[in-house]
Order: sequence, then structure tokens, then C-alpha cells
Amino acid sequence: MSDIIKLLPESIANQIAAGEVVQRPASVVKELMENSIDAGACEITLIVKDAGKSLIQIVDDGNGMSETDARMSFERHATSKIRKSEDLFLIKTMGFRGEALASISAVAQVEMKTKTVDEEIGTSIAIDGSQFKSQNNVSCQKGTSMFVRNLFFNVPARRNFLKSNPVELRHIMDEFHRLALAKPEIAFNFYQNDLEVFKLKPSKLSHRIVGLFGKNYREQLIPCKEETEEIAIKGYIGKANFVKKSRGEQFIFVNNRYIKSNYLNHAIVSAYEGLIPEGTFPFFVLFIDIEPKHIDVNVHPTKTEIKFDDERSVYSLIKTSVRKSLGTFNITPALDFGADTNFRLHTSIAPSSGLSSSERDYSQFKNTERELSNLKNWEQLYAGALDNETIEAETKREMAAKGTPLSLTFESAINNMDENIQHVEESNKQNIFQFHLSFIVTPVKSGLMLIDQQTAHERIFYERYLKILENNTGSSQQLLFPETLQLNPSDFSLVKELEKEIKGVGFAFEYFGENALVINGVPSLINVDSGKVVFEGVLEDYKRNFLEYKSSNLENLARSMATNSGIKRGKKLTTEEMKSLVDHLFGCKNPNYSPNGRLIYYILGLEKIEDIFKIKA
Ligand code: ADP
Ligand code: MG
Repeated sequence: MSDIIKLLPESIANQIAAGEVVQRPASVVKELMENSIDAGACEITLIVKDAGKSLIQIVDDGNGMSETDARMSFERHATSKIRKSEDLFLIKTMGFRGEALASISAVAQVEMKTKTVDEEIGTSIAIDGSQFKSQNNVSCQKGTSMFVRNLFFNVPARRNFLKSNPVELRHIMDEFHRLALAKPEIAFNFYQNDLEVFKLKPSKLSHRIVGLFGKNYREQLIPCKEETEEIAIKGYIGKANFVKKSRGEQFIFVNNRYIKSNYLNHAIVSAYEGLIPEGTFPFFVLFIDIEPKHIDVNVHPTKTEIKFDDERSVYSLIKTSVRKSLGTFNITPALDFGADTNFRLHTSIAPSSGLSSSERDYSQFKNTERELSNLKNWEQLYAGALDNETIEAETKREMAAKGTPLSLTFESAINNMDENIQHVEESNKQNIFQFHLSFIVTPVKSGLMLIDQQTAHERIFYERYLKILENNTGSSQQLLFPETLQLNPSDFSLVKELEKEIKGVGFAFEYFGENALVINGVPSLINVDSGKVVFEGVLEDYKRNFLEYKSSNLENLARSMATNSGIKRGKKLTTEEMKSLVDHLFGCKNPNYSPNGRLIYYILGLEKIEDIFKIKA
């Protein structure tokens, strides 16, 4: 047989290697901004067009490069930052692998202009998909400008794999937030499609936080500071009553490098235990300084993980110092733990033995739920290196992948339900009552049906909004007194990206000055007074949803609208309202689970009831 092994052409090898470093526009933003920081820039400007898909431009006033260095910088493993392997352990710069420019220029059309302070004239270089195009002299300011155009122009598979603009923009925003927080002493500007999103002056950390997230953060920040011989912690945490429904605004930096660590996250969040409701997330920006010899950061270029040699003491120091800050600033616990915790349906009511197929399906799902709640213990969590939320999302994804219905269209359950519903006969319908202002209880043929009014509403609204969005039939009710809504810059740009869809559900609004909107009309389905709250809630949720569920814009928006506009637990319902809720629920395509995968109703089987009273024993 003839020889069949061949070396890959360099351009293909480069593309493959680039896959490690460049996954999406946000990866380019991160690498190039880090280079600017490493080059000692005082001001860095980021400009993106089309969520970075057509252009990412970064301009800095850093040290620049000589003509030769400019050419060298695009070679793989070319770096000015480490010279020998021992240097790896003393890394002070953000980058050190010498891979970013080589990788980016393998999968995009790159142009660089750069000049050092000593040189009269600068250099401009153009490289397309690893192909050197030109190098010329140009007159330019000291510093470096990078233009990255048409990312993945030569790797269509990857280009097609990119997500919608709002999603890609969100990833860019995340990187921008992380770097701007890590370096408050540097000025950062951010333009998106000619819209100025941020203009951040050099400042203290607290001002930087306010500049990034909005003026209302000013009253919400608590300083946190602790120092031992080995490790120093400093930064800000949010007050206990300032929690969010998503974990987006939680930042940990180790030696000024943003990292993800479920373990350290858990240390911080557990300090809030008893102060914040379940399912909410406190704000924090914490910097941990520790001698480089106690950590290992030489990990994968895109992974932001880190190892400590003594994790337990780091954990307890963080937890103690966060607790102390919360204590010192005397936060009164926000005691409204709400219906969510106290009235949660007890999943311990095990289904009886003689299960119908649909009920077996339930118990299967419930087991997962039970396993999840068992996993709350942090040690177990850490063993799996996943936190509860991740596990939940992960489990859902797995179930979806395995073909286990996620949004749970249990055919058999529905069929069975028809039967049950038929038996919510007219006479029985009078036997409907509300329990704990949260659950609707009504007898059905096979037992007693308990319905969670909140998740039921979410399901009904979700399906309605989805229909409205798909058919473009959103109608709007005019507000007598239009409401102004001040947003933070990143939410404002999110609204711009989602404008069509948001208007599609029935919001009418206009832009009004810097990062502000005036809401003139709200969707007909919601209460006129809650327009503003729903609008804000929808943005908040949208950000969370699209990270957790890989669903379309429309589904996400429908899900957010549903969770924000439906009635909640704790609201009193009249008999009429309850009946109508039941009717609408079972008119849904999928009455079993809410759009977030929560159980909507449960049937306490007759057999089970008989069991309790030992009638057949
Ligand atoms: P790394 O940052 O890991 O060294 P890169 O591929 O990102 O690798 O960059 C290669 C080299 O190019 C850097 O080591 C640095 O010397 C130079 N360089 C890159 N970007 C800039 C910049 N904005 N200003 C000055 N020098 C830069
Ligand atoms: Mg770099």
C-alpha cells in the first residue's frame, strides 16, 4: 500500500489551531483588549459592527511595536511576554502564549497599524486568513489599532455557527465588563454600530462599577476588605436586598485575572445564606490577591479556571469576610422569602404504585428534581465542579439530548389529562378552591389535583405570547401617562438589538436621550400599571434565558414575558378566575410544565389517599 499520511497545509493547520483561541467575536475582543492592556495603554477604544461579525476594531495608546515586531507578532508562539519556562510562574501580563494574533489572522481579515514612541513613522500590516498581504509605512499616533473584519470568512461552518447578534453582543459585553472592572485605572470606550455604549474615564473601582452598571448601584455597594499574610481580598458586594434573578453580575478576579470558579462563588453566596431568597443572585466584584506560587493559571487559553493549593482556607476566608461586610453594614434581612420557598409543592408525595404511564413519567422527572435539591450541599457540588444552577441546566440539556421531552409534551400525559379533565365535571367545578393563596385544588376522577397558579399562568401566557410573536399580532394599549425608563448602557443596546421583537409583543416605545426610553404603550395582555416593571423584568430574564436555554429569540422573549407578566403565588383568585385558569391551562399544548421546566400540577392519586388511611391495607 502506498503511503497515505500527509502534512496538512499550513493554512488549514492554522485554522484548526485558531479554533482553540477564537470561538466567537467576543474571543477576539478579549484577546485584543488584553494585548492593549499588556502594552500599557491608558485608553482603549472598542468598536464593533454587526455584533463583531463584520468588524471588531481596537485602538490603544500603548507602547506600539517596531516594524519587525509588528511582522513577528503574527507568528505562532511569538511573544514578548515570557522568555523561559520559569517565567510561566511569574506571569504578570494577561496574555503569554503568543497565539492570539496568529489565530485571529488565520480566520479573519486583519489590518494592524502601530507605532512606538521613538519612531517617526508607523507600520501598517494586512493579513487575510494567514496570507500576508502587505506591509507599509503609515503616519499614525503612538499605539496600536487593530481591525478584524469578517470573522470566519474562510471557515463558513464556523461563521454559520455564530449566534444571533444580541447573543454575540452579550458575550462581547461580558468580556468588556470583565476587563473594564479589572482595570478601572484605564479609560475604556465602546461603540456599537456608531452608538456610544460606554465612555468610561479612569477611576476608582466603585465609580467604574457605577459607570458600567448604572447610577442606581451607588447606594447598593458594600465594601469588602480582608487581608492575611497569604491572601488579600478587596472589592464590593451588593446589599442583600439588591439581588437579581440572574447570576450575570458576579465577578471574581484572582491576581487581576477574571476567573470562573463555582467553588469561590459558593463561598460568597453562602455568606448571604438566610439573607436572600432562594433563586436570587447577589452582586459582587471581588479581587483576590495571592502569591502566584499558590495558584496554577497555566490552563487552556479560553478557560478562565484556576487551581489553588489550599482551597479550603481560601473558601473560608472569603466567606468570613463577605459575612463580616454584610454584618458591619447592618443589613436587615429581606425577609419576604415569598411563596417561592415556603409554599413549594412537596415533591415527597411519592406517586402510588399502580402508576399510569404518564404518572411514571412524572416520577422520573421528579426524581431528577429531588436529586437536584440533594445536591445543594456544597461539598457535593464541588465534587462535581458544578453548581446547582449549572446542574439543573445541564440535566435539562442532557434530557433534551436524550430525547427526553424537556418542555414535556408527554403525549400520554395529555391524553390521560383529557380524561381527567372531562371528569372535572360541571358539578365538580364548584369544588374548586384556593389553598395558601398559591394552589388551586380540585377533585378529578383519579384523585385530587393540585395546580400551582403561578407556573400555570406562565404556561398559558407563554403559549399566547409565542403565538402573538410568531404571527406578529401583538396589540398594544396606549398609556395615559407615558413612562420614562433609564437603562444601563448594555441593557440599552440590548433593547436596540431586540427592538423589533419587543415591539412585536405590544410594547410601544421611543428612544429618549442617553440610554433612556419612553414607554407609550404596553401589551394588551398585561396590566397597564405594570408596564415598566414588566419591561425591566423581561430584559433581565432575557439575558438569563439565553444563557440557560439555547432557544430562539422569540421563545426567549415569550418566556420572559410570561414569567414577568403572569400572576404570582400569593394572589387571591375568585372561583371564576380559578375555573378560567384551569380551562386555559388544559387548552395549552403542554399543560404539564412551565416554560422554565417547573411542574404545574400534580394529582394526589386516590390509591395514595386510600393508602394513607390504610383503607386497603
Ligand atoms: P501574547 O499576548 O500571548 O504575547 P499575542 O499573539 O496576543 O500573544 O501577541 C503577540 C505579541 O504582539 C505580544 O507579545 C506583543 O509583544 C505584541 N502585541 C500584540 N498586541 C499589541 C498591542 N496592542 N500593543 C503592543 N504590542 C502588541
Ligand atoms: Mg495576547
